[in-house]
Amino acid sequence: PEAAPVRTEHEHDRLLGGLLSPDFHDEQACRSRYEASTLWKTSPFSVAPYLVRRLRQYEANHSRCGPRTARYREAAAQLQSGRNAGGADCRYVVWLPMQGLGNRMLSLASTFLYALLTGRVVLVHQPPEMEGLFCEPFPGTSWLLPPDFPYKDGFWSGSKESYVNMLENNVVRYDMVNNASALPAYVYLHLENTRFRFQNHTFCEEDHLLLDKFKWMVLSSDSYFAVALFLMPAYREELDRMFPAKGAVFHQLGRYLFHPGNRAWGMAQRFFAGYLAGANERLGVQVRVGPYQLAFPFEVMSEQILRCTREHGLLPQLTHNTERAAGSVRLANSIAVKAVLVVSLKPEYYDKLHGMYYSNAAASSTGQEVVVSVYQPSHDEDQRTDSRAHNERALAEIYLLSFCDEVVTTGWSTFGYVAHSLAGLRPWVLTPLDWTKMKAENACVRPESVEPCMHSLPSFDCWRSGQDLDPVVHLPFLRHCEDVPAGLQLF
Ligand code: GDP
Repeated sequence: PEAAPVRTEHEHDRLLGGLLSPDFHDEQACRSRYEASTLWKTSPFSVAPYLVRRLRQYEANHSRCGPRTARYREAAAQLQSGRNAGGADCRYVVWLPMQGLGNRMLSLASTFLYALLTGRVVLVHQPPEMEGLFCEPFPGTSWLLPPDFPYKDGFWSGSKESYVNMLENNVVRYDMVNNASALPAYVYLHLENTRFRFQNHTFCEEDHLLLDKFKWMVLSSDSYFAVALFLMPAYREELDRMFPAKGAVFHQLGRYLFHPGNRAWGMAQRFFAGYLAGANERLGVQVRVGPYQLAFPFEVMSEQILRCTREHGLLPQLTHNTERAAGSVRLANSIAVKAVLVVSLKPEYYDKLHGMYYSNAAASSTGQEVVVSVYQPSHDEDQRTDSRAHNERALAEIYLLSFCDEVVTTGWSTFGYVAHSLAGLRPWVLTPLDWTKMKAENACVRPESVEPCMHSLPSFDCWRSGQDLDPVVHLPFLRHCEDVPAGLQLF
């Protein structure tokens, strides 16, 4: 075997312990790839050499089978012919976006893990609102679905190409596992979080044996379904080898896959340099306001945030001395500065915190004067997932949150999950309020894990013969989520 190239310590860190490929040469094309890690705190997890090996293998296979290769052209032609190719060499999973950016990042990372486990190549359908949002993650090839790919719109749970529906309608049968050329040309896998359950037959082993036989799979999901892959015995050994620490899955795959494009990165970098870099400490506060369980009145929500920061010493207390703080008027390192990054669609949470610390002096728990500077990068008011500029701001803010020392996030929010998980930070999660009392028992809780929560559960029928048992009882690396008690989290 060839001797491994000698890498310096610096190179090792730059490549995130080997997560990133050394084969990207145009740094200007994607500034975030190597710059983001200079702003993160040191990762609490080491990268398994086996994961590194599997990533390099994946990249080689993606180059072999990816767009603009003869193998891809052959596969695309076979798709047109309307027949599945039994014993196919290159197999693909086409990812379709669903919901907001946080949901998309969680489902794309899950799809990538699924591809790693099943030897598929991931191709990403990039609608105009995602153009240039992320850099290419694999060297010398592209993960973008070629624009002439025919099956990328209009899928939903009721689509006739959906696996579950094909099974129900006898279009596919389990006995076809031995006769793959009898299968349709592609299968659509719909993994949507609806009322805490994925559809049945989406995470059962016999179904995956059959799904594996399709050369082409089209997948859409709003969920962090990576967790469900750990429930399937067939994948367990590989997953154990890739992730000796189960709580590192999104943290590592997210850092590997997602590199903001230069526009979003420009915003994040300018904001960091201008507002956050000079502070002694940085606290991120993500306030997700909006639909469903997140639609609480401002006074209730802001009281909960203040309770959380007070009870856990996350923000300096007001001294009620409105006169000038001690130390030099020019600051000049004589006073500690705590920066608070408020990230929200609405401006009022920023206004409240900013007003408090603008009008009052503050002190740390030891009585030392602290200047608290409060900033908010943008407040778009409403979610506008179909706008590219809006998504770029959202991505910049996810990364800015991930550069903080501590974060307070809103429960249920995939936007918040991505930020703290990329950072490798256990967040302070604002617990969902009780609508009848308009108050939460605890203002916030701190989960054991940095992992995102999978809100939706698969049916466990298939892996525990006929019994619908709680997997947390059987698998030591799983827990229920603090913010979504029915959900599942790796740790
Ligand atoms: P979730 O709905 O909280 O699970 O997160 P998603 O990211 O899936 O969807 C929410 C979307 O709303 C984001 O992707 C943004 O487009 C927008 N959004 C929500 N909160 C913020 C925020 O604090 N800042 C910005 N810039 N956009 C936000």
